[in-house]
Amino acid sequence: MAEIRKRRLGRTGFMATEIGLGGIPVMKLTDLDEAAALINYGIDQGINYIDTARCYADSEKKFGLVMKERRNEVFLATKTNVYDYDTAWQYLETSLSELQTDHLDLWQMHDISSSDRWDLAFSDKGAMKAAHEALDQGMIRHIGVSSHNDDMVVRCIETGEFDVILVVYNIAISSAAQAVFPVAKANDVGVAVMKPLSGGVFFRREETYVDPLDAMHFVLMNDDVTVALAGFENQRDIDQAIQASATYKPLAPEKVEEMAAKARFLGDDVCRACGYCRECPAELDIPRLMQIADENRVFPYEWPRFRREYASLDPKVDACTDCGQCEEKCPFGLNVRERIRRVHQHFSAPL
Ligand code: SF4
Ligand code: SF4
Repeated sequence: MAEIRKRRLGRTGFMATEIGLGGIPVMKLTDLDEAAALINYGIDQGINYIDTARCYADSEKKFGLVMKERRNEVFLATKTNVYDYDTAWQYLETSLSELQTDHLDLWQMHDISSSDRWDLAFSDKGAMKAAHEALDQGMIRHIGVSSHNDDMVVRCIETGEFDVILVVYNIAISSAAQAVFPVAKANDVGVAVMKPLSGGVFFRREETYVDPLDAMHFVLMNDDVTVALAGFENQRDIDQAIQASATYKPLAPEKVEEMAAKARFLGDDVCRACGYCRECPAELDIPRLMQIADENRVFPYEWPRFRREYASLDPKVDACTDCGQCEEKCPFGLNVRERIRRVHQHFSAPL
């Protein structure tokens, strides 16, 4: 078994495998033992970095089943998506309990992409106060931050508070390479990358198909990246990410341009299937609806398939209460309501 290459995680000094286990897709697995077996498999293959979050449904619980035995084999990161002191502290205690450990290597402020979240986190009664107390008490080793907004990440780095940042970087969204990574490097901050495969949007169709190994090689090609988080819901996902590390070679500039052209074909406002909007009060399957909306935009001639797919969904978009929560949660600022309503208009006629 080839050893996965390691990179220094900024001033934490930790040598992280360049492939980490990301905790979103594992949420989909209903069988806890199956999830634990996959996590064990990833660690057996040498992966030593885990990233999850309090708000990823039962993701922490699944990692916890493995952490109770193998805590010292990995760098363990989770996040709080609440920014007031009291609730953040409760979230931290819950994370530790779910993860079956007495300390985290990294506790991250989740998705600080707007000034109001920043203001609350850094207020006198904010989550950063909880983070400092947790550091003092040895409950966490480092504070980190995730964000989908380059300017906010730079602002976070410049506070000197965060040892690791977690940002989007892939062939379709690569602005962080210029806007963020040099600042992280100058401040010796570790760089974890989420969505290296852009939530799978490259692989949906022939016209946009980018080889997953090439997509991962694009991310690994950047020396400023410390660890690319690979989501997984089966062994193949883990094997593929490890294979990308084992077979790594820099991509030729023409290859990068060819891949970038395909990414542009999708547009820069495509749904990234991150799932942050999943908790819809009307129980709409928003990521699925957004996927139909995107695919209909790019492949309109396939409308019979979209109509069939929409017919199979229950509830339908007319159940939307217009609460706007999905748009508040969407880190990419997508106009969710307008798009899903268009899906309803186009495809709600009886078959
Ligand atoms: S606006 Fe509609 S789709 Fe969005 S979260 Fe509210 S009910 Fe769900
Ligand atoms: S609509 Fe936005 S929040 Fe929802 S899955 Fe797509 S990118 Fe994520």
